[in-house]
Amino acid sequence: MKSLIRKCTACGRYTMEDSCPDCSASTSMAIPQRYSPSDRFQKYRLKERM
Ligand SMILES: [Zn+2]
Repeated sequence: MKSLIRKCTACGRYTMEDSCPDCSASTSMAIPQRYSPSDRFQKYRLKERM
């Protein structure tokens, strides 16, 4: 199943619209994990410690 969930780049609200219903900022596709660079580095650090 294809997910069309999007996330506001300004307030972080999840929506399915191209623009946020709250603040009218543009939204981008919400990609679970691997979206935040800090998470990726944390993963590497955990791996190194093992
Ligand atoms: Zn917003």
